[in-house]
Amino acid sequence: MKQKISPAIFDVIIIGGGISGTSLAYVLSKYTNVKNIALLEKYKKLAQVNSANWNNSQTLHFGDIETNYTAEKAKKVKDGADLVKNYLIIHDKNKKIHNKTKKMVLGVGKEQVKKLEERYKEFKNIFPNLSLLYKKELAKIEPNITKDRNPDEPIVAMVSEDGYAVDFGRLSESFISEAEKSNTTLKCFMGCEVWDIKKKDGMYVANVCGEMIQSKVVVIAAGSHSLKFAQQLGYADDIILLPVAGSFYKGSNLLKNKVYTTQIDKLPFAAIHGDPDVNTPSITRFGPTAKVLPILERRNLKSFYYFLEIFQFRIDAIIALLSILKDRTLFNYIIKEFLLDMPIIGKFLFLKEIKKIIPSIKWKDIKFARKYGGIRPQIVNVKTKTLDMGEAKIMGDNIIFNITPSPGATTCLKNAENDAKTITKMLNKRFNESKFSKDLRQIL
Ligand SMILES: Cc1cc2nc3c(=O)[nH]c(=O)nc-3n(C[C@H](O)[C@H](O)[C@H](O)COP(=O)(O)OP(=O)(O)OC[C@H]3O[C@@H](n4cnc5c(N)ncnc54)[C@H](O)[C@@H]3O)c2cc1C
Repeated sequence: MKQKISPAIFDVIIIGGGISGTSLAYVLSKYTNVKNIALLEKYKKLAQVNSANWNNSQTLHFGDIETNYTAEKAKKVKDGADLVKNYLIIHDKNKKIHNKTKKMVLGVGKEQVKKLEERYKEFKNIFPNLSLLYKKELAKIEPNITKDRNPDEPIVAMVSEDGYAVDFGRLSESFISEAEKSNTTLKCFMGCEVWDIKKKDGMYVANVCGEMIQSKVVVIAAGSHSLKFAQQLGYADDIILLPVAGSFYKGSNLLKNKVYTTQIDKLPFAAIHGDPDVNTPSITRFGPTAKVLPILERRNLKSFYYFLEIFQFRIDAIIALLSILKDRTLFNYIIKEFLLDMPIIGKFLFLKEIKKIIPSIKWKDIKFARKYGGIRPQIVNVKTKTLDMGEAKIMGDNIIFNITPSPGATTCLKNAENDAKTITKMLNKRFNESKFSKDLRQIL
């Protein structure tokens, strides 16, 4: 049945019903005096793309055990993670959205052990709950890590109590149901794909399920697709996307906590890890791999066309990609990661990776997790010919475009807070900063 859209004029239109769009709808509804919001989502349910629990690693990243983060980046990520953690403590008392375990990063061999010992000295000041555990203590909390490990191989783990596994899809639903309790009118239009937005007489106009709606301010939170909209409106010509698919393998009852491996220098993507699934902890997931694929959405071949719309076989884009791939370490890594998704050889190679976490693991213990894993939209700057690892926020005239690679789900509320401040300025409205901080920045 066709959905009736009334009124056709909104204060803010949000395109995208993943964790970014829904967290913004929540923050605008609860902490501002914006009165009229439309959220447009192309699928019939919220969070079916990268924010779906089967598509990401379900980790709330605090920056404590992520060895690819500098102390400065860790502090920023922690601020965002704390907001989500507090939201969960307040709104998810029955643990329908999250689970808590320990979380650790392993250092194996002399070099990695030394690195983690040094890192611990710096990071324990930011994260007082961190501890450094050696073999004997580790065996007590995660026996499979030490079982059958070469006794001559030194091992250490930097362990945190904050092992939050989050179903970011359910969190998206929770944001919307909390937003709906506020005085703001929030209309969610599901199953409505937006093809383009135009600016007319100072208002943005979009065709939604055959009807025209308009607003002064638009936020595009459509993952990789946000770049397509930005370029349609003449922004971000110097950016293209390198879509990096992440796959997972799974086993049964192999780990009780989140166990990460140490990041290999120079490699941009997070090292693999193993952990219990947030909804079915008896399933242990391992991954993600990092395979470059020319699509914007996993298991959606139509998104190959969307990728081409952004890539357009531009000469500067091809030169930028070739220049990035000149780095031998990165090139070899990309080839290896590609093989990890192949039948038989992929499992053989992946098993070697997992043995860094569980030395005794056997062929029969794991299988490829079909239909798991999303696509990380890594940003390539064609001018500087660099792979940018962070999120991209493109600011236009009363319009914001968000592209959110990992850890975009962790930073959702921080990102929403920043956008809410910008939007309220654009609309001459008010963001209630003290209420936001009182609710979500309190020590719980
Ligand atoms: C393998 C992998 C592991 C990850 N692990 C983690 C992790 O452990 N922790 C973490 O914090 N982050 C992780 N991430 C990143 C995280 O999943 C994303 O940053 C986050 O889900 C992005 O949310 P989003 O709402 O911006 O995008 P999405 O979840 O992709 O949502 C975008 C929404 O926009 C909709 N949409 C698109 N185009 C249109 C259109 N034209 N009209 C209407 N609607 C449209 C889509 O249908 C979708 O619902 C991981 C990502 C991957 C791929």
